[in-house]
Amino acid sequence: MELLRTVSEMHDWSDAERRGGHTIALVPTMGALHDGHFALVEEAMRRSELVVVSIFVNPTQFGKGEDLDSYPRQLQDDLAALEEMGVDAVFAPNVEAMYPFGEENVLTWVTVERLDEHLCGRFRPGHFRGVTTVVLKLFNVCRPDVAVFGRKDAQQFVILKRMVEELLLDVEMVGVDIVREEDGLAMSSRNAYLDPEQRREATALYRAVTAGRRQLLEGEQRPGALVETMREKLLEAYGLDVQYAEVVDARTLQPIDSITPGQPVLLAVAAFLGKTRLIDNAFAEAPATTA
Ligand code: AMP
Repeated sequence: MELLRTVSEMHDWSDAERRGGHTIALVPTMGALHDGHFALVEEAMRRSELVVVSIFVNPTQFGKGEDLDSYPRQLQDDLAALEEMGVDAVFAPNVEAMYPFGEENVLTWVTVERLDEHLCGRFRPGHFRGVTTVVLKLFNVCRPDVAVFGRKDAQQFVILKRMVEELLLDVEMVGVDIVREEDGLAMSSRNAYLDPEQRREATALYRAVTAGRRQLLEGEQRPGALVETMREKLLEAYGLDVQYAEVVDARTLQPIDSITPGQPVLLAVAAFLGKTRLIDNAFAEAPATTA
């Protein structure tokens, strides 16, 4: 496995492989890898001859007061796990490589409008602009044919897909379902912050989105009723501070007044346990004929 630390090393590697007729799949991550990330790598391996995993804690997607400094970093463990899986290359640049003018002096941003108005975007101003900008940079440097992302970050996936389509990028976007712990908690690098009590309460997010989804599939057409159900489940966890519980159209990410038969719907929640912010979501298509 190649470890590439600079933009020119990464460029040279991907140019040589592409000239050799090989396809490249990219899995962008911020490291502290877990089974959710590994599922993305496996999907990338199914889709492409070569797999590159990027590991970069992107400063421009963290807001003031968020966990940029404390975000878990464990490069050696991550490299060992990826080598064991048979990944071909890891791109692990430093901040200077990705932001040559400094991360405080970025003048060129990629913004996808509208799609960040609700869900996480409402509470994390500038977050998705940081994500789209860094992912376009990663695409430029790694030159992938395929890019694999998790649906755990459902809003991120919709926004990135729109970016790829509007900027006419020649990258196939692949989404992978959420990988969960046995008790349902969505795997996340941030779960490492939770103490045992918080870890127990964290499953409320999963219970909330699954209860909402079940109710939708049983024919409930009022988004407000689904939100109510999700909030009730979240409030069962005493230490949990709800940031949002929303039901949106899965394509536009806009809130909906009523759910129409066959409509793709995203039920999403975000909550704090102490300082740790967790998210979860469930996707469902409203039944074609309602009960
Ligand atoms: P991160 O390292 O948190 O930026 O995540 C890197 C990629 O892994 C993103 O595409 C995430 O959506 C995806 N990911 C993180 N956790 C999970 C999970 N539990 N299941 C599926 N994908 C995940």
